[in-house]
Amino acid sequence: MGKALSQAAEMEKQTKIDIDLIEPEFTYRLGETQMTQLKPLYWSRLGNSKSRTNEQQELCQETINQLMGDCTQEQAISFTDGSCLGNPGPCGAGAIIYAEHIKPAARLHRPVAQRGSILLAELIAILMSKRRGIKLLTLNWDPNSYISAIREIKENIEHLRQKGLNLIVSWTPGHVNIAGNDEADILAKTAAWEAKELPPENNAITLQDVKQAAYKSTGNKWHRRWEISERGRDLYEKIPTTKHSIMFDFPTKRHFSIFAQLRTGYTELNYYKNRVGQTNAIESCNCGAPETPQHFLLECSCYENEREDMLHQISKEVGVRNLNLATMLTRLDGENTEETKVKLQTVAHYIDRTGRFNTAVPQSQS
Ligand SMILES: [Zn+2]
Repeated sequence: MGKALSQAAEMEKQTKIDIDLIEPEFTYRLGETQMTQLKPLYWSRLGNSKSRTNEQQELCQETINQLMGDCTQEQAISFTDGSCLGNPGPCGAGAIIYAEHIKPAARLHRPVAQRGSILLAELIAILMSKRRGIKLLTLNWDPNSYISAIREIKENIEHLRQKGLNLIVSWTPGHVNIAGNDEADILAKTAAWEAKELPPENNAITLQDVKQAAYKSTGNKWHRRWEISERGRDLYEKIPTTKHSIMFDFPTKRHFSIFAQLRTGYTELNYYKNRVGQTNAIESCNCGAPETPQHFLLECSCYENEREDMLHQISKEVGVRNLNLATMLTRLDGENTEETKVKLQTVAHYIDRTGRFNTAVPQSQS
């Protein structure tokens, strides 16, 4: 836990993303959000926006107008829309709410995040219109006796039903000149443009932000370690930066992890384990020598046959002769993608044949 907190603090420092701004409301329990099993009756006849015929367009308008016409004094209708400029990109939410016999009662728009998705924007649009809609509908209630009810409603749609309010979320055809829909669309687009300039304190932190921050922070940490490390110096001279090293096309995710360990020197091999106190003063490999990445890949007598096959294969297929840690684990100047791929695959095959990483990084992880 302490480690997680200091990691979070460091991530904040390096990426200027304030962890406290990750609002609970943006943490959706998506498991609870399901597609409706029963599509509304009008759904199937309305086509989709790409291939809709004129007749279907008219039908769309009729259907929605009729739904609105059926609205009573006690009902409100809200059109919501989300807009995203890129994926992920600046995104915003828009909504218009009609109440009291479909008079426009509120127009809402809200820039949501600088790097968000269309799904996030759509959900925020529904959320904000639900909140405001409930306020509109409960305006005439005795506030004292309903304060707790309103609180409950906000939290749970089931409570909402028990209090006699029915919330129906349904799909509306887009781009068929339905005024409410078009307004929501414009509001959402405006909000998305505004999201570009969101001040940090109002910017919702999205999953994309967290991913990017984690990526950056891990990269920085790796780079720092790489600079001060005593190990892998011959490799360091060839590739002093860690920047592009993870763009390689590793044979599998499992191998990616093993290669990363071998390159940084932070490995499951005993030499490192001993340095960080995980084993009892045994630096050595089964053969008796210190078990470094260099030893494991190039020197250990336990794997002579496997190594001979690997070196033979690499020089035959790729033509690399002076093999060392750097030339085995990275892409060399003048080496094309296919050559690098074959080389890494051959090294991966060696690693698998030695079985040395099988306990630490199980085969099934690939
Ligand atoms: Zn050995």
